[in-house]
Amino acid sequence: MRFDVLTLFPEIFSGYLGQSLLHKAIQRELVSIHTHQLRDWTEPPHHRVDDRPYGGGPGMILMAEPVVAAVEAVQAQVNPVGQVILLTPQGERLSQPLLEELALAPRYLLLCGRYEGFDQRVIDVLQPREISIGDYILNGGEVGAMVLIDALVRLIPGVLGDEQSNLQDSFSRANRLLEYPQYTRPRSFRGWDVPEILLSGNHGEIERWRAAESHRRTLERRRDLL
Ligand code: SAM
Repeated sequence: MRFDVLTLFPEIFSGYLGQSLLHKAIQRELVSIHTHQLRDWTEPPHHRVDDRPYGGGPGMILMAEPVVAAVEAVQAQVNPVGQVILLTPQGERLSQPLLEELALAPRYLLLCGRYEGFDQRVIDVLQPREISIGDYILNGGEVGAMVLIDALVRLIPGVLGDEQSNLQDSFSRANRLLEYPQYTRPRSFRGWDVPEILLSGNHGEIERWRAAESHRRTLERRRDLL
């Protein structure tokens, strides 16, 4: 899977991409991530990307010309072109089912906003898929893009050591419930013991206990999922 990320702050991504699972997936060429500086498509000497809103109001708006030029230039470099995703609090809400759908495509171009967001003509011209990571306002789309990449990369076959963990995770397509409680050594910690059933070696009973715990937890915490 390939991601092209258009942003005013490409350096935000470097530390994050160098860590853990994502770093390994990049090294194993299961995923590639290319960041592009939006200002590279602006005019010297000021390299301006934003301007005041027509009609007045606070803040600055990202101008359509450099953003559309950047997207078209990046799309011209890749074949097939990536689906354009624009990160915005006004988009469809990111969820595990949406991620599973997105995981079917090989390539995405992620557009990260800043300031008061994009000129509406960016959306009119590019017709991107607009995605929100939740009902709150971030300072920019970069964190949203990282959330999207991080969650999508887990769904690429071969990225996780054990493919089963995708199916057991909370929200996964196996049952869309929260995961059951997990334990590791020691057997007793500060008076709290590992449930006997998990030490029994009876796999059928363990599966039944886990299914019941998963259901109980979901009922308690996220009744909306049931
Ligand atoms: N004025 C915009 C509005 O009310 O819809 C919010 C602009 S926000 C301060 C700047 C940028 O951060 C947005 O263009 C978007 O790229 C990103 N952003 C903010 N909140 C987000 C969210 N919940 N999900 C995805 N991206 C978000």
